[in-house]
Amino acid sequence: MITTQQNPAQMPLRFLKGVGPRREAIFNQLGIYTVSDLLSYYPFRYEDRRNFKKISEIKSDEHVLIKAVIKARNLKNTPYFRRRVKSIFEIALDDGTGLADCVWFNQHYLADSMKIGDTIIIYGKPILGGRRVKFNSPEREISSQQDSLNIGRVVGVYRLPAAFNQRFIRKIIHECLEIVGGKLSDSLPFHIRKKQCFENVIKSVWGIHFPIDLEDAKRARERFIFEELFFSQILVYLRKAKHRQQESVSLLANDKVIEKIKSNLNFTLTDSQLLAVDTISKDLSKSYPMHRLLQGDVGCGKTVVAAFAIALAADCGHQAAFMVPTEVLTYQHKESLEKIFSGLNFRIEILTSSLSAQKSKKIYEDLEGGKIDIIIGTHALIQEEVKFKSLAVAVIDEQHKFGVSQRALLPKKGIPSPHCLVMSATPIPRSLALSLYGDLDLSIIPELPKVRIPAETLWVKEDKRELMYDLIKKKLKEGRQAYIVYPVIEEGSSQDLLALEKMHENIQKKFIGFNVGTFHGRMKNDQKIKVVQDFKSGKTNILLATTVIEVGVSIDNAAVMVVENPERFGLAQLHQLRGRIRRATHKPHFILISKKELTEIAAKRLKIISSTDDGFKIAEEDLKLRGPGDFFGHLQHGLPLLKIANPLRDLEILGEARLCAHHVVESDPALNSSVHRSIREHLDFWFKQ
Ligand code: ADP
Ligand code: MG
Repeated sequence: MITTQQNPAQMPLRFLKGVGPRREAIFNQLGIYTVSDLLSYYPFRYEDRRNFKKISEIKSDEHVLIKAVIKARNLKNTPYFRRRVKSIFEIALDDGTGLADCVWFNQHYLADSMKIGDTIIIYGKPILGGRRVKFNSPEREISSQQDSLNIGRVVGVYRLPAAFNQRFIRKIIHECLEIVGGKLSDSLPFHIRKKQCFENVIKSVWGIHFPIDLEDAKRARERFIFEELFFSQILVYLRKAKHRQQESVSLLANDKVIEKIKSNLNFTLTDSQLLAVDTISKDLSKSYPMHRLLQGDVGCGKTVVAAFAIALAADCGHQAAFMVPTEVLTYQHKESLEKIFSGLNFRIEILTSSLSAQKSKKIYEDLEGGKIDIIIGTHALIQEEVKFKSLAVAVIDEQHKFGVSQRALLPKKGIPSPHCLVMSATPIPRSLALSLYGDLDLSIIPELPKVRIPAETLWVKEDKRELMYDLIKKKLKEGRQAYIVYPVIEEGSSQDLLALEKMHENIQKKFIGFNVGTFHGRMKNDQKIKVVQDFKSGKTNILLATTVIEVGVSIDNAAVMVVENPERFGLAQLHQLRGRIRRATHKPHFILISKKELTEIAAKRLKIISSTDDGFKIAEEDLKLRGPGDFFGHLQHGLPLLKIANPLRDLEILGEARLCAHHVVESDPALNSSVHRSIREHLDFWFKQ
């Protein structure tokens, strides 16, 4: 962000020449309210418009810059009834090597500024194929005009709504810079700029909008990328420092409990699970709250790791809360925890919004009275009525399914602050995770339990459906069960439900002798639980479901999943879906039946998903396909929006920024030192906004 000392930078845009209420409204839609906002509206690429091309050398339709003399001109007003084109202005150009024509529509005023014999500079995309090269509405500049913003230099190109053109935005930004350019105050301290070899803010802001050359633009961009990342990392470290100052209950690990849990498991923990458990136990013994992210691919076994933390709280006479995104998951987790904790005498209850008023009231009372050791619940856990006697551990599962503020509410229920474990199945590279969730410590479970049989992914087009159905039948006859996932656009519309019913009918006809159940988001919760139970017990062989099945449901015998119209799903979602069968006790088959005609990007996605089962790789590809804004939007919590930095692309700068930020906060957590004054002022300003 660019700020100034006294605040002309906070001036609203309407004070600029050429910005009236209409244009101001359009700027506002772009999130640009003040001069400072406008100056941080950076070009997304640059064009080098310094080198003239000879007309005779134009051989391709790439943008070119030419300088030529106007040989002829013609302004035609088209008849009144042809409303859309009111006027056509044409000129013929000669640069001594060849001739070119230019044409503009509805810009009759151009005629006043272009006379025969004038030398003019044109920038545009040539149209080849005719007798002469032609330009349709090229950018133009009379060659005698000094100090052009648009031609004869490196120009920035901005992302703009249709109502604005590049010339306009360059002019307005230039005007802004003339007014406030000299008064900008630098938010990066001098010593950091020096260390990173960055120019001061004044030079940089000119450089990013009106660079002398491409190198100048690059340096300026790097500075602003660094600046954004640096401040986001400063915030992250400040938050972390604040966590340390909070108080929490120190929970001491009881070896007997840990051994008991281990003996209750019918598997041995992997090394990374053991490491995570060990690290978490250490965190819990501290007198300040744990803030840890446990990251690992679907099916890697995060629940059991969380179970240790939960058990420690309960064993020490405190309470634990486990928040999950769906009701089905609450029941599933309760079942798992009861097994894991058998013999430990913990009272585990469920709280969801579908409990009767009477039952909920009882739960509220028992939680407040300390009679419940462990509560598993949905969003219902963060309602105001919920109070704990002594909440010591809060676990949030599938954190991406919760909003930022929802995640923050659960820990607030404990006084002093509870230890907090957040779980995520979005596997992103460590360095990236560190900076996005930098205020959280990070544990990663990088591998699936060895007992897992890798899923085989088959992608076919519709015409091979019958073949796939044969494969499913074979698997069903072997005793396995199958999911068929059906995309509905807007789950719950009556049209969708009808389509689902129709699908159910079709499937039932195809699979005579097998029972088909249906599962969708609009069903009542007790219905949902019954459908899952029927599937679990083997009463139904096939479960036709919408993507609500994506989170959580875990049935070991379900080894086949068919996804209809997989082209409609994102990569992460497909991988999550596949996660449902990756825990199967028999070789899992993941079958994608797509349309025949696919968009390029959809085909790419399906290719990726069928070529790898590695969640980290998939997340990385996903980032590339989706672009960072989309991806980071929901990951970043409470940090300023990144306008120019892309943490994935700018990994190296991120590393530097992180290091610098760490150094600043470690050496001066209150930012009191005079060398950090500009950082403090910048943050104050940001918080005020
Ligand atoms: P996720 O990380 O996706 O939440 P879960 O915790 O639900 O995964 O675990 C998936 C399944 O794997 C569960 O049935 C669990 O009992 C089992 N599991 C967990 N850890 C191991 C292990 N080390 N070896 C074998 N199975 C395991
Ligand atoms: Mg899980």
